[in-house]
This record gives sequence, structure tokens and C-alpha cells, in this order.
Amino acid sequence: MRRTADMVFRPTKVAVFIDGCFWHGCPEHFVMPKTNRLYWEEKIGRNIQRDRDTDNRLTEAGWLVLRFWEHLEPEACAATVIEAVPPRRQEVQASKHPKMTS
Ligand SMILES: [Zn+2]
Repeated sequence: MRRTADMVFRPTKVAVFIDGCFWHGCPEHFVMPKTNRLYWEEKIGRNIQRDRDTDNRLTEAGWLVLRFWEHLEPEACAATVIEAVPPRRQEVQASKHPKMTS
């Protein structure tokens, strides 16, 4: 499984993940296969664990993590991303160029 974000806005530290309903255990669409149940339980469980671990690491490093299920409308996901990025861009610029006080 990949461990890289699907989209990265590097200057603002926003990482976007699109999670597949099956591979990441979507609460609405995931159905455990009837054959090899143990294998799949372990496999999907590991994926979910790794997702949370990835979230934690990125958050600790100052990233904003946005996750979307693949079943969501792309427009809705895009709208959330578009709302999240600009305020962070201002924040980053503000910290790079501190206001002169005199
Ligand atoms: Zn889903």
C-alpha cells in the first residue's frame, strides 16, 4: 500500500488523501469478503492502523491532513481543500515575513 498523499500543497503543509472504500474500511461501504476472512480482517485492519499512524506523524510535523472517502463527490472534496489551503498560506507567509514593528 502507498503511504504518500494523493495531493500535497507543500508551502502550506496540507496533505490530501483519497481513501478507497474497500482498502481503508469505509464505514458505509466496506464489506468483509466471506472467503479468507481472517486474511482480510488483518489486512484491512493494518491499513486503517497505518492511516492513523500516518495522520499522527504528519500532524506532529505541522501538516493539515484532509482525508476523503472515494465515494464522496469530487466537487465536495475540492471545495473543502480550497477552503483549507488559503488561510494556511497566509499563516505561512505571515511567519516567513514577520511584520516590522517600529
Ligand atoms: Zn465508501
